[in-house]
Amino acid sequence: MILPQKHSATGTTIFTVMSALAQQHNAINLSQGFPDFPIDERLAALLGEAASTGYNQYSPMPGLPMLRQAIANDFKKRYDLKVDADNEVTITPGATYAIYAAFTSVLQSGDEAIVLEPAYDSYIPNIEMNGAKAVPVPLAAPTFNVDWDRVKAAISPRTKAIIINTPHNPTGATWTREDWDTLADILRGTDIAVLSDEVYEQIIFDGKEHYTVLQHEELRQRSFALFSFGKVFHNTGWKIGYCIAPPMLTQAFRRIHQFLSFAVNTPAQYALAQYLATAHDGLIWKMMQQKRDYFLELMQQTPFTIHRPAGGSYFQVAGYEHISDMPDLEFAKWLTETCGVATIPVSPFYSNKQDDKLVRFCFAKKEETLKAAVGRLMSLKEARITS
Ligand code: PMP
Ligand code: GLN
Repeated sequence: MILPQKHSATGTTIFTVMSALAQQHNAINLSQGFPDFPIDERLAALLGEAASTGYNQYSPMPGLPMLRQAIANDFKKRYDLKVDADNEVTITPGATYAIYAAFTSVLQSGDEAIVLEPAYDSYIPNIEMNGAKAVPVPLAAPTFNVDWDRVKAAISPRTKAIIINTPHNPTGATWTREDWDTLADILRGTDIAVLSDEVYEQIIFDGKEHYTVLQHEELRQRSFALFSFGKVFHNTGWKIGYCIAPPMLTQAFRRIHQFLSFAVNTPAQYALAQYLATAHDGLIWKMMQQKRDYFLELMQQTPFTIHRPAGGSYFQVAGYEHISDMPDLEFAKWLTETCGVATIPVSPFYSNKQDDKLVRFCFAKKEETLKAAVGRLMSLKEARITS
């Protein structure tokens, strides 16, 4: 059989590669982004309650009404935004799926979609799986600010989508209200859809506020805002996310979703609905900021360079130019194997595999994990390793 190459990515995603390597070498895993601390016992109990009280059959295609309503209430409470639970919210099996479904809703063969790089590694394959072409626009290290002239230059009559990610994986950069205004100016008069990947919306630091695309009235009309409970309630393995989009885009999204997964895990939706309605304090950032600060303080004892503290997300990018001149993938593998700490190299977040000699650490870990990891990294002080 000759099977089609549906996308240009070769090999297995870097998150799987590095987590597997971490396991193989018994390394402390600061690579793939997931917390190593438990979820709230009450949330766990609600999942059991859902199964034992009979929430075990298919949920309605758009998601359990009680969860969609809880999400609408949550957006009212946290952003003072009106969200229509029936016509604007769709529950998905995670945000990765929602990104694919949103791209599939708007892209046809021959279309183009703009991706700001470095970018989460599913974006470009998802665009290509729809027969469309990804047009990368680089964000330059170390600030990773948007070069708006390059964004404008990337737009063609075939451009049908642009994907934004704030807070940003892997750089931790965050968008301001002015960034959204500039994007609105650029997109005005086009039929380009915005996919706004906001999975880290509640993990933002130093007193900054998250600006969701939903707060931008003009952009909201052309946007799919994509979220994940995994990042908010520390349960990445539940794989439940959601898409908020205006009714016309939601209809297009559901036309795809109904034939992709049709519905999403019912007991998990029940548990999240109950939990969101009663226990959500919206203060996840506080706990994560403590972890970021603790991690940054510890990292000062190592030869890694922190060019800019993460403004959000649960990732910190660091330079290793004082340790080695190896390419970043080689360095990350070496670090896992010989030092016992797994990270993610940044080059796989670029389509041209640009190597700025940076690795990404996930600090969504117990303090003892971070301390043990940095304890190992401190041994690099004496070292200068060449490939
Ligand atoms: N977008 C970004 C930027 C991410 O880092 C992640 C990480 N998982 C996702 C989307 C996917 O979220 P989910 O686990 O809900 O699929
Ligand atoms: N979002 C997480 C990360 O960037 C995990 C993604 C994944 O494993 N696909 O590490």
